[in-house]
Amino acid sequence: MEPEDTDVTGPDNIDGVNQDGGNREGIVPSSEDTPQQAATLGELLLAVEELWPESLAESWDEVGLVAGHPSAPVTKVMFAVDPTLEVIDEAVKWGAQLLITHHPLLMKGVTTVAATTPKGRAVHRLIESGTALLTVHTNGDSAVGGVSDVLADALGLQDVAPLTMAANGLPEEGIGRVGDLADAMTLGDFAARVFGILPSVAGGVRVSGDKDGLVRRIAVCGGAGDSLFDEVRASNADVYVTADLRHHPASEAREAALNGRPYLVDVSHFASEWLWLPAAAAALGNVLSDQGHDIEIQVSTTNSDPWDFILTPG
Ligand SMILES: [Zn+2]
Repeated sequence: MEPEDTDVTGPDNIDGVNQDGGNREGIVPSSEDTPQQAATLGELLLAVEELWPESLAESWDEVGLVAGHPSAPVTKVMFAVDPTLEVIDEAVKWGAQLLITHHPLLMKGVTTVAATTPKGRAVHRLIESGTALLTVHTNGDSAVGGVSDVLADALGLQDVAPLTMAANGLPEEGIGRVGDLADAMTLGDFAARVFGILPSVAGGVRVSGDKDGLVRRIAVCGGAGDSLFDEVRASNADVYVTADLRHHPASEAREAALNGRPYLVDVSHFASEWLWLPAAAAALGNVLSDQGHDIEIQVSTTNSDPWDFILTPG
């Protein structure tokens, strides 16, 4: 989650992030031997709503269709974290008719989409190429199988529950998650586990706390989660894993910690949310195939984490 996401592209591809719905060539059958394969964009929107209802989005958020005709046919869908120009170009080159991104392209009031601005160039590139853009943001955070659910699952958490209940959702829906490791481990080993499950990005993983302290109860929030410290403390978590932790919220949380807990693990915003993409692609693919559609779904291989390198002591 994050209301103020901006879009800056990095040049590097991520190792091992290419989640492919199938081979790039040949998976879309020719029209003569397939009575039903493409879906319309409108049908795609219904499938997306089934998985990540817009009613789950936070009130400040902007989710849903950004560009595209509901009647347009869709045979290829790409998932990405950020609707940067590099990502849009990747989707266009692959031939996607729909790009689904976690972060909104447009969050604030817009008075121009002239191609002289970065956002305007993105809008032009989408419309001129016939590529629809759909945002699944805090509805994708909150839903079952959403961003923090996937993060919790990847970390091996059990008995997972939301940190905050969704205003319009089920008890298992909401922002952030908290759950327990099967066995206690040291904070150092846990941080290594976090590092191991995330795509590699320049910033790595930062940790605050006793490296040898034992941890078991883990709170997570994909994206920027520094608004949830009260909920994290109430959950009795030993560790809080989130992104974009700034000095003052982090420092004050450490001052308020009881017995040193919750320790903090600060990860890349992009990396923490990227994990959701393959899971989301698989979930959407299942819904569409149940409906008789044969749609190629792929995850973007563009690393849109804005940071490129880091210097550390030693
Ligand atoms: Zn985010």
